[in-house]
Amino acid sequence: AKASLGTDVCFYEEEMDEAVRNRRRMAQQMREALDQGQFSLNWQIQAAVDTGEITGYEVLLRWIQPDGTFISPADFIPLAEENGLILPIGEWVLRTACAEAAAWAEPHKIAVNLSPVQLGHVDLPRLVHQILIETGLPAARLELEITETAMITDMERTTHVLRQLKLLGVSIAMDDFGTGYSSLSTLRAFPFDKIKLDRSFMSELDGGPQSAAIIRAVLALGESLAIPVLAEGVETLEQLTFLRDQGCDEVQGYLLGRPQKTAEGHIQQAARVLW
Ligand code: C2E
Ligand code: CA
Ligand code: CA
Ligand code: CA
Repeated sequence: AKASLGTDVCFYEEEMDEAVRNRRRMAQQMREALDQGQFSLNWQIQAAVDTGEITGYEVLLRWIQPDGTFISPADFIPLAEENGLILPIGEWVLRTACAEAAAWAEPHKIAVNLSPVQLGHVDLPRLVHQILIETGLPAARLELEITETAMITDMERTTHVLRQLKLLGVSIAMDDFGTGYSSLSTLRAFPFDKIKLDRSFMSELDGGPQSAAIIRAVLALGESLAIPVLAEGVETLEQLTFLRDQGCDEVQGYLLGRPQKTAEGHIQQAARVLW
């Protein structure tokens, strides 16, 4: 028994080492990715539910390694947040997104995801201001998406930073609404310009009456607070029809368009049926 315990412990340590080594390797690869231009941006269309008009594009970060391997932001962003690399990566995203959008023929709004780490560790209002001037993108075209995690860590500091950002003329959206533990108190703490209803409610819409009831409640909440609600992850015409009937303001999802290299895409035929 003793011997096998010994091997177990040893095996466990080896696994730990392996995990640590993997993270170090990934961190090193992220640094190289930034230096060697392996990151790029995708754009996903957002539209008004009543008219089908394009209301903006969300920017999504893509990492394709030299050998063609695709690494999902859901996998590398948490690690980048832990080791601080999210700061230079996030700055790159913001600068590149603003520069690309400033060159578009049509002045659509863009929505950029911000990590809570960025909100807490840099003089973000100064950085955003500098990037807007540098790229020539009007502040009114920039929306910043934040999740409630940013509010939980230091509510007072975060709301202060958000207020300064709004003074620049950018708008602030609350992302992944309904997934955290304190979505409601987060709404109370700051006057968000938009609520992005998490896509999990959409994917569960067919699964029973709960999701439909929650979506209705969030739409009513947005209505009474005078905050527009955007539903994420809209994949079917049934979902879009439901959202329209319930008075949802905006939609985003594969039905309208997948994230793509350029923002020149039109709304997919499938969604056009409604408009
Ligand atoms: P998110 O902010 O909630 O972004 C929406 C995600 O949903 C994207 O995944 C998008 O591709 C996906 N999506 C869009 N429409 C549909 C749909 O109809 N069905 C389904 N199943 N999915 C849909 P993606 O691009 O893999 O990004 C995952 C997450 O990584 C994002 O979630 C965001 O939290 C984070 N992320 C992406 N880019 C950035 C970035 O530049 N900075 C930061 N801090 N985070 C980012
Ligand atoms: Ca987002
Ligand atoms: Ca989201
Ligand atoms: Ca999400």
